[in-house]
Amino acid sequence: MAEHITKTPHVLLFPFPTQGHINPIFQFGKRLLSKGVKTTLVTTIYINSTLPHNTTTNMEAISDGFDEGGISSADSSESYVETFKEVGSKSLTNLIKKFQSEGNTIDAIIYDSFIIWALDVAMEFGIKGASFFTQACAVNIIYYHVHKGIITLPLDAPVSVLGLPQFECLETPSFVHNYGSYPGWSELMFNQFANIDQARWVLTNTFYQLEEEVIEWMRKMWKLKVIGPTIPSMYLDKQLENDKDYGFSLFKPNHIECMNWLNDKPENSVVYVSFGSLAQLGPDQMKEIAWGLTDSNVNFLWVVRAAEQGKLPKNFVDEKIPRKGLVVTWCIQLDVLAHESVGCFVTHCGFNSTLEAISLGVPVIGIPQWTDQPTNAKLLDEFWGVGVRVRADENGIARRENLVSCVKKIMEDEEGVVARKNAEKWKELAKGAVDKGGSSYNDIDEFVFELMHNA
Ligand code: UDP
Repeated sequence: MAEHITKTPHVLLFPFPTQGHINPIFQFGKRLLSKGVKTTLVTTIYINSTLPHNTTTNMEAISDGFDEGGISSADSSESYVETFKEVGSKSLTNLIKKFQSEGNTIDAIIYDSFIIWALDVAMEFGIKGASFFTQACAVNIIYYHVHKGIITLPLDAPVSVLGLPQFECLETPSFVHNYGSYPGWSELMFNQFANIDQARWVLTNTFYQLEEEVIEWMRKMWKLKVIGPTIPSMYLDKQLENDKDYGFSLFKPNHIECMNWLNDKPENSVVYVSFGSLAQLGPDQMKEIAWGLTDSNVNFLWVVRAAEQGKLPKNFVDEKIPRKGLVVTWCIQLDVLAHESVGCFVTHCGFNSTLEAISLGVPVIGIPQWTDQPTNAKLLDEFWGVGVRVRADENGIARRENLVSCVKKIMEDEEGVVARKNAEKWKELAKGAVDKGGSSYNDIDEFVFELMHNA
């Protein structure tokens, strides 16, 4: 067959509509743009309505069936997943038809691996699909083994896969060890592989050195491109001068307040605390963290989203932390992690936060909540050596005294020195991966070449 060369390929970027999924796909789009690929970001009508107008990005919105309130307005995970599939596939079909009627070719759809029906829609039009995995390969591979029935649920024994460390039951993703919880989300995770063999590419937001064993295994199965970490270039390789932030915040950051406060603090003296964009901590857990931070007697910057602030202990912000702590509703996390006064990151271990800590060389204290976080926390602690985990009690609560002891380990003890050294090592490797000639750089180049040559 004669090779067809598309000079400026056009791809749709279609993330799952949450902050932690939009960031990596949108970032990857910036790398593509810099290599001559035209991109259009497809979000939902609801997400689109919450964003400040961004003129530099080509954007289109489709309906997920929840145009007024988005995911959080759905009754249950099942109802969201079902409606998104039903309404979303029709809406995506209409979008593609609209592009076609305008003579605007689509060469590929890069869709979130959670949205497998996007590939079915793409194939109806003869468009190639690239399944984009936003979670760690280790997590994906556990889900793959569940999908194939090799790991059977309910789980009754630790999990050992490929070259990874053994995961105790509670260290597997919550949808695996807490069988039956959030059936809609569980189905999304386990079904990511249902039609993957028909995807032209499988893209994954990690980097070779970080997950070598699993990546080698995945390469044998699919046409894999390892393209991460998808962190704005100016924090890593600095090749894209204008790429200084994610540029896609669903929450309004208290940026200046955070930076002014951090500027005043000595080097490596601040504990930064955040549980990401989705986790909802119980009031009990919130209280333990609040008193754990004050008992640690360190400077701390804590992100508590507006909807979660009501769970803070009474008078905590006004009376208890006036000098040592700052609580904000959102920050520009990358700028906080990159700040020299930040000495460690207390994190829920969402995979973006995980990659950001590694890429910016910041040691972590993991307090995982659900989904892939317990597995990421284990990897951060035991596999990558960049931190510790606060052990939860029998009720799943990380108690204040354990937090105090972890803060001491990382901020004062030898364990912290080692974790920081390892984090620094990963930072260099992450930068090397996306820098010219690095493993992710080469995979992105190959992807673009294949797009341009319609290969
Ligand atoms: N984030 C941020 N400001 C905050 C908290 C989080 O910019 O105050 C960003 C963070 O940098 C990351 C994303 O939100 O890119 C959260 O993704 P992650 O996978 O860590 O967690 P999720 O929100 O999906 O649970």
